Amino acid sequence: MTYYKIKENKDIDLRIGKLVCLARTYKKHAKEMKSDIPKEPILFLKPASSVIFNGESIIFPKNSNCLHHEVELGVIISKKCKNISKNKTFDYIFGYLIGLDITARDIQTEAKKKGLPWSISKGFDTFSPISDVILKNEISNPNNLDFSLKVNGIIKQNSSTNNLIFTIEEIIQYISKIMTLEKGDLILTGTPEGVGEIKKRDILEAELKNYCYLKVDVV
Ligand code: MG
Repeated sequence: MTYYKIKENKDIDLRIGKLVCLARTYKKHAKEMKSDIPKEPILFLKPASSVIFNGESIIFPKNSNCLHHEVELGVIISKKCKNISKNKTFDYIFGYLIGLDITARDIQTEAKKKGLPWSISKGFDTFSPISDVILKNEISNPNNLDFSLKVNGIIKQNSSTNNLIFTIEEIIQYISKIMTLEKGDLILTGTPEGVGEIKKRDILEAELKNYCYLKVDVV
């Protein structure tokens, strides 16, 4: 079992549940992947066992020759919910973090061609680095947060959640129509443009501007 690291609240034990992830939620990223812009959120799941924390290492799997970084806002669920209305979604948010959805792009491209699921390309151990958690009340509007990713000190991704195709409220409402969300579940809201390859010995630094920071390397 893995537990969140909660900034300045080290005594709260919150277990990491399922990781519900979104694809193509930023127009410019859909474009760089030569994909259509979806009318409804596209969902996939990652295992909680893929989570690592600040200061840990992404392990390059033997099965892949091409890992990509995807920096994303994470939203943590505070209590069990199902079919929630849009104006109630904030009642079910515990907090936020900055995370990486590491992707074995070669495996994913092959899976897409064959119409197979993305579970392998997204699910390796260490493929979901996350920062400490920022509590909900510290952030007044999650739909207007700047965030970025540097690789070896150079900015590769830099955007704001105001570029999301769907609002955080719409995303939570949509997911809750399909599956029950539970305390500790993590929603990774998708990545903006600028995804690219990472290599062994690279240093990745993700930041949710003014709130949280995550540094990991690749081994
Ligand atoms: Mg992603």
